[in-house]
Amino acid sequence: MEKKNIVFSDFNLSSEVLKAISAMGFEEPTPIQEKTIPVLLSGKDVVGQAQTGTGKTAAFGVPIIERMDKTNFGVQSIILTPTRELAVQVAEEMNKLGKFKRILALPVYGGTSIERQIKALKKGVQVVVGTPGRVIDHIERGTLKLKDVQVVVLDEADEMLDMGFVDDITKILKETPDERQTLLFSATMPEEILKISKRYMRSPEKIKIALDSVTAPKISQIFYEVRPAEKTEALCRLIDAEDSDLFLVFCHTKREVDEVSSNLKLRGYTAEAIHGDFSQAQRDSVMKKFRESKIDVLVATDVAARGIDISNISHVVNYSIPQNPESYVHRIGRTGRAGREGVAITFVSPREERQLRLIMAVSKAKITKGKLPTMEQVMTARTESLKEKIQEFIDDKRFDSFLKMVERLSVGLEPIEVAAALLKFHLEGFGKEAVRESSVSLDDTGAAPGMVRLFMTVGREQNVRAGDIIKAIADKANIPGKAIGGINIFDKFTFVEVPRESAEKVIDVMHQSIVSGQKVAVAPAKPREGDSRGGRR
Ligand code: AMP
Repeated sequence: MEKKNIVFSDFNLSSEVLKAISAMGFEEPTPIQEKTIPVLLSGKDVVGQAQTGTGKTAAFGVPIIERMDKTNFGVQSIILTPTRELAVQVAEEMNKLGKFKRILALPVYGGTSIERQIKALKKGVQVVVGTPGRVIDHIERGTLKLKDVQVVVLDEADEMLDMGFVDDITKILKETPDERQTLLFSATMPEEILKISKRYMRSPEKIKIALDSVTAPKISQIFYEVRPAEKTEALCRLIDAEDSDLFLVFCHTKREVDEVSSNLKLRGYTAEAIHGDFSQAQRDSVMKKFRESKIDVLVATDVAARGIDISNISHVVNYSIPQNPESYVHRIGRTGRAGREGVAITFVSPREERQLRLIMAVSKAKITKGKLPTMEQVMTARTESLKEKIQEFIDDKRFDSFLKMVERLSVGLEPIEVAAALLKFHLEGFGKEAVRESSVSLDDTGAAPGMVRLFMTVGREQNVRAGDIIKAIADKANIPGKAIGGINIFDKFTFVEVPRESAEKVIDVMHQSIVSGQKVAVAPAKPREGDSRGGRR
């Protein structure tokens, strides 16, 4: 049955909160958000069964921020988490959600200086996210007052109980006003949690996502344990090592899609992105390239991918873990079509292991743990595939004119060295090389005197014009448009010269910024012999 897609604006949220959600790159609510947000907005207590990876933070964060009084600078909400890591993560998300309403959240946890936390608390924060021990410490010192608290959240309650925090939690709850709204989120619901909910909550609504039984297709399914900071490297290794046609990479948010695709481009892959901010024309152009195999990797959100039909996907990668088992099954069903063997890869951070277990249980998928290929294996795989291609060319024998060139090139040189040089040129071709070398200096970019030549990952294919680039740089770096020098726009990238004294600033403000609707990477260019420098505008 076709179900109507709920959007965030259906919840009657203020423009400040909607703006924050949009800036975070969320396209539509996750299942737990769909159910929880309206109930919390009505002021009721909630016991929610959900784990990290389902979007539970925003499920309570959105209504908390929405109902908060921005003119009151006292602590209005306290969120208890079992670990420091989660406290930081939740506080970050609360700060993002509260950005336009100017609501401040502060993480407080043990193991670091309490003085700094006291200073920050004195300045006034409206949301405190903390581990129980440290919260008690602040209460006892009188540095944290909970009399204004309207909402208390017990996040990952089962883990807090396992860690022996039950007495601390009850102590903290007693410090807060009786009329508060109390929320409890937990992946499992042992007896002790139910006891707490009975004792300290007012007829809480129990929210659990009904898990439709879904069946994962029979394709090869692997997960890799990868920390968030290592995901790009892991993805690149897999793309290099696997025998693949097309990779379809799924991310949660539009921002993540932009980041991943621009990081891949920076590393020399032919990657494209699609998500809700793209116009129909941009989508069509990306999809055309994808179908014509002009790109190796397509990075997408679930929403954007829903509307596309492509069949030659050899690998689906869950760069961010799916927020529910159904989404996992939908995503991986994109590979292995038309009787071809497909591979589904899932990146799992240590905090997301429970979510992976849930996905496996509900979809009855057999997802085996994989080990990322080593650099050596990557090199071997690349050599093998290159060898196959060379063999094809040799079998084809249509390279007579090239043979003559090689003969000429080899006069006075070692043929093996000629081959190595050509291979380097082939693998680190124009443009890619410019950004791969991190040691490129600003003084050696092949620019006119007094200028620095920069490399940017947008080009003709994204419909950029010289005027767009000048405007973007002039506006963002606050330099006069006429100070900007030669611009050379190629299909996939652009070179632009800027004054030496502004170069660092330009890189700083332009790198990862949006130009013509595309996120760009910007780096000093690398000079090339015989490179014809850009004509003046
Ligand atoms: P959580 O379960 O709260 O740890 O959230 C997991 C990840 O999903 C976080 O990176 C969130 O920023 C992201 N996320 C939460 N809600 C949404 C949404 N509606 N759309 C896309 N991503 C989301």
